[in-house]
Amino acid sequence: MTSTDAAPTSTQTFTSLDPASGEVVGTHPIHSAADVAAAVATARKQAEWWQALGYDGRKKALVRWRKLIARRMEELAALMARETGKPAGDALLETALAIDHLAWAASHAEKVLKRRSVAPGLLMVNQAASVEYRPLGVVGVIGPWNYPVFTPMGSIAYALAAGNAVVFKPSEFTPGVGEWLAATFREAIGRPVLQVVTGYGETGAALTTAGVDKVAFTGSTATGKRVMAACAQTLTPVVIEAGGKDALLVADDADVAEAADAALWGAAANAGQTCAGVERVYVHERVYDQFLDELVARAERLEARPGGQVGPITMPSQVEIIRRHVDDALARGGRALVGGPVPEGARFVQPTVLVDVPEDSAAVQEETFGPTVTVTRVKDMDEAIERANGTRYALGSTVFSKDQGMAIAQRLRAGMTAINGVISFAAIPTLPFGGVGDSGFGRIHGPDGLREFTYPHAIARQRFKPAIALTTFRRTAKEEQQLTKVVRGLYGRGKR
Ligand code: NDP
Repeated sequence: MTSTDAAPTSTQTFTSLDPASGEVVGTHPIHSAADVAAAVATARKQAEWWQALGYDGRKKALVRWRKLIARRMEELAALMARETGKPAGDALLETALAIDHLAWAASHAEKVLKRRSVAPGLLMVNQAASVEYRPLGVVGVIGPWNYPVFTPMGSIAYALAAGNAVVFKPSEFTPGVGEWLAATFREAIGRPVLQVVTGYGETGAALTTAGVDKVAFTGSTATGKRVMAACAQTLTPVVIEAGGKDALLVADDADVAEAADAALWGAAANAGQTCAGVERVYVHERVYDQFLDELVARAERLEARPGGQVGPITMPSQVEIIRRHVDDALARGGRALVGGPVPEGARFVQPTVLVDVPEDSAAVQEETFGPTVTVTRVKDMDEAIERANGTRYALGSTVFSKDQGMAIAQRLRAGMTAINGVISFAAIPTLPFGGVGDSGFGRIHGPDGLREFTYPHAIARQRFKPAIALTTFRRTAKEEQQLTKVVRGLYGRGKR
């Protein structure tokens, strides 16, 4: 347990491994439920100190942490690359984007959350009304391994900036990255307002029942449901950032080469292990053949290998899921124009382009989380939209079109849409990030992401006595008549 006041009660450890080589990257404690409870108790004390710093004090502290991470970003990226197997350049990009979010959250918390006046309305004109967004206290953050810095920082940075203390449980595949974040926070700020607990799923489960004031969970839909069920016992609120099955739509007026480039990057970057990665493409029939030619030519040049642009599949069990989806697609009449069946025992999955895959197959409906993509011909964009909206998931989406981008985007059931770009919304700190349906609920990033880790406190202050006294047993029949007259005058006039 990094940075906690209490010593861990458990002496058991586990290792994180380099998925490309199998080498041990680090050894970490398996924190027990008692350790987690101790971390939350420490966090509760730290939250008081952190809240007392005020917006300005917290901003200064978070700026110190931001600077430290920025100065040592290569070190963090190298550790991340070892624990996940992702290319070092991708790890650097992820770190850079996380720093940008931290900077935004730190500098905008006051503006978004501080007490502000709101209109009291005509009936309560004698009142001064205001609202402030107050920190919840202690936020438990449970993170995945695929973007082990960017993803949890979407909760950690915003929860801290909003005035909460945080206990973070990183994935068992990326505990070193989690510990690095807590250690640098302690170095920059001197107090364990951010702590890390490491271990397996049980450690995460312990965090959900340890009395935190909110749980921010990022991971699979199945685990999200378990987290929500556990939190329901104590009415602990949750944010669920779960999986996706994002579609990219190509209209007949699109820059087809750009669309193909984006589709390939969206599908195969981070070896396809991206919640908002592109897993399905729907292309207008007029540009379908041209799009496929462009996509196939690019995909054939891309190779998953050690040191390549596409790294290994981080989690061994995921290879089985990818294999099942590809095999099922091929068995049901699909064709692989690039790639093909995933060999037994593989840790690297080659970029795979599938066509003619039935719409109800696993490769189109379920999250594959590998560098694979299905491409489907559609007669028009109405059909593309209907199909894009046809899964249980609804996280991100992408549209390529010169003139119809906004019109198509507005009809997509998704938390985010990128037009003529891919996953661009995730890198814009002012935009909220999150899904609907099986992709979860609640938002990280932007003003919504700051408010997610707060509760609103409303104040109505009487400025002068009301003309009509409504909230008293002294209210008379005459005053009730006056009220009726006023409301009718205000809201009941005009044609039916
Ligand atoms: P998992 O659901 O397997 O795990 C997520 C986290 O939950 C891990 O830290 C895990 O610990 C922990 N955990 C496991 N069991 C429990 C439990 N019972 N109670 C509390 N915590 C538990 O997801 P992955 O790590 O495999 O991440 C991949 C998934 O994350 C994909 O579905 C992806 O789409 C999604 N994701 C969503 C994002 C979004 O913003 N919407 C962003 C990034 C990923 P341990 O690892 O130790 O088992």
